[in-house]
Amino acid sequence: MLNIVLFGPPGAGKGTQSERLKEKYGLVHISTGDVFRGLDPNSELAKLAKSYSDKGELVPDEITIKILESEVQKFPEAKGVIYDGFPRTEAQAEALDVFLTGKNTSVTMMLSLVVPEQELKTRLIERAKTSRRQDDADPEIVQNRINTYNKQTAPVAGFYEKQNKLLEINGVGSIDEITQRLYDAIENSLATN
Ligand code: AMP
Repeated sequence: MLNIVLFGPPGAGKGTQSERLKEKYGLVHISTGDVFRGLDPNSELAKLAKSYSDKGELVPDEITIKILESEVQKFPEAKGVIYDGFPRTEAQAEALDVFLTGKNTSVTMMLSLVVPEQELKTRLIERAKTSRRQDDADPEIVQNRINTYNKQTAPVAGFYEKQNKLLEINGVGSIDEITQRLYDAIENSLATN
């Protein structure tokens, strides 16, 4: 199985690029943010998740890990998965390792999109016009999401670096240019490992 963790701060382009990688390599795309937003809005789980995401904070690990695992189980025939927005904490990364080991597979690589903070803010405010996401539109929430990323999520890259699975990709440029960099990184990595 090809299991790709597509990593990066909010606004780095994970969702857009995941769709491209999904098409090219025939993968399943799982975005925990999309899963949370897709829950029945009247359910207790949706309300709980929203109480965190509205503030730009992370949904607790225990809930997020369960959601992710049940999402993966929906695709028993998958050739591989792109994990978009997961794992976002070290506990999630550890849980993913255990979960995939139980399925006789593992994370193949982490592709980390690197984008400067000012560019992220500009992109998110621009995206708010079409995403209609309150967490994109409000500069305070955007800042909080970036702070949460720096504090809780950025260290997850180190987790994969220790396993020699981290590949950093310049996330500035046209969408096509960045897609090409991702394709190149994937092919290089598959050819050498
Ligand atoms: P995203 O669409 O990836 O920007 O996620 C939107 C929001 O969903 C985040 O700000 C978090 O509140 C929540 N969320 C998504 N993925 C995770 C995760 N792996 N762990 C915790 N919270 C998450």
